[in-house]
Amino acid sequence: MYDLCDKPPSDERRNFLRLATASAGALLLSGALPNASANPTPTPLTVLNPAQALARLMEGNKRYVADVTKRRDLMVERDTLLNSQHPFAAVLACADSRIAPEYVFDSGLGELFSVRVAGNFVTDEVLASLEYAITELGSLLILVLGHERCGAVAAGIKAVNHNTTFPGKIQGLADAIKPSVSKVLHAPGNLLDNAIEQNVRDTVARLKSESRLLANALAAEKLSIVGAIYRLHSGAVDLIA
Ligand SMILES: [Zn+2]
Repeated sequence: MYDLCDKPPSDERRNFLRLATASAGALLLSGALPNASANPTPTPLTVLNPAQALARLMEGNKRYVADVTKRRDLMVERDTLLNSQHPFAAVLACADSRIAPEYVFDSGLGELFSVRVAGNFVTDEVLASLEYAITELGSLLILVLGHERCGAVAAGIKAVNHNTTFPGKIQGLADAIKPSVSKVLHAPGNLLDNAIEQNVRDTVARLKSESRLLANALAAEKLSIVGAIYRLHSGAVDLIA
């Protein structure tokens, strides 16, 4: 988040302006800046490479954990984002109400492209959303965020261990998690914790292998895909993949 207060332009903002100049043509072609000439105000932040995007996310998480989050002027942020968006990172997170990516990474409007589904696994729609963030909006990072005590993964375990069936479309969620559960069924340690981590690793692997668009961005070093676990009590995000 660039500084909304009274400071001179930060390095981050100068970096963004450089990037904006370099990428404006491509973004215009993509339709991401439909009215850029009418509104020269730069949209908030972006970063220059995937490593910087990850560092920025983790710095935000440190502020969240320490309860020293930034003060934000959401009215200004809304105004600045009227005509375009350049989220520097995409987050594929569980829909669990205890996890809110913008809070977890102390981010403002326009910074994160959040895709959420219970169990944070890949569907065609999830993949399409992430492809859009990377290829059209210029996001540089996909972070797959699992979390402790995930109910969707617990459902997958019940489906594997007890053949439990679930009503409505919930069965589909459980079925989607079952392959990850099966991989760690006899591993030492806590089955739920192990399955949550395996599900994140499997999701990262699928994102890397099932999309030509994402593979191209990875090969061009314009994208990193990483996995992490959110700790419910501390709020910390631990990278695992
Ligand atoms: Zn969950």
